[in-house]
Amino acid sequence: MPATILVVEDEPAIRELVVLNLQQAGHRPVVADSAELALASMRDALPDLILLDWMLPGMSGVEFARRIKADAYTRQVPIIMLTARGDEQDKITGLEIGADDYITKPFSPRELNARIKAVLRRLAPEMAGDLVEMAGLRLDPATHRVAGNDRTIELGPTEFRLLHFFMTRPERVHSRAQMLDQVWGNHVFVEDRTVDVHIRRLRRALEASGHDVLIQTVRGSGYRFSARAEE
Ligand code: CA
Repeated sequence: MPATILVVEDEPAIRELVVLNLQQAGHRPVVADSAELALASMRDALPDLILLDWMLPGMSGVEFARRIKADAYTRQVPIIMLTARGDEQDKITGLEIGADDYITKPFSPRELNARIKAVLRRLAPEMAGDLVEMAGLRLDPATHRVAGNDRTIELGPTEFRLLHFFMTRPERVHSRAQMLDQVWGNHVFVEDRTVDVHIRRLRRALEASGHDVLIQTVRGSGYRFSARAEE
């Protein structure tokens, strides 16, 4: 599945090379030549992953990563740092702050893509396209089929993405804003209410097999997908 990847890099030549690589791998790159611009872009929409140069003018990569990991809304976005060869201390600092991986410059397109894939697989399992199963509910991203207790469930494309999002992130509370961002995608101006409409449709589709109870409303916060009974 294509991922939206925020590239924070001030050197135009490297930025263009990375963007080209990402496009060829089927991803959607979003670029920022400073940490300040990257923060502004993340206020509009969260990327699936951040490629972060460590040496930036203005706010440093370290400071940017600290802010991202300190904010509950942005903390979940994985960061791969781009560091210069031999800067061992940078790598250690970055991993301590919460960066998920690092790549040493210069890197090959193959290495870049492999690291991105590994991080996405670990942190955003729905990107990896693996079959997911929970409490007798099965979703196969490869065939776009959903079954509840072995009976086929028909879902619209949005409900399918919504269910996939839930099943790969169980037991967590998701705000409507987070769901809009991650299920509906970037720069889509839809209202929070839209989430509720699709949740209703998804629950109705899951009713036949009794899986509608897995979608729990968390008052004042959003929704949770859980196989445990509601308190
Ligand atoms: Ca730089």
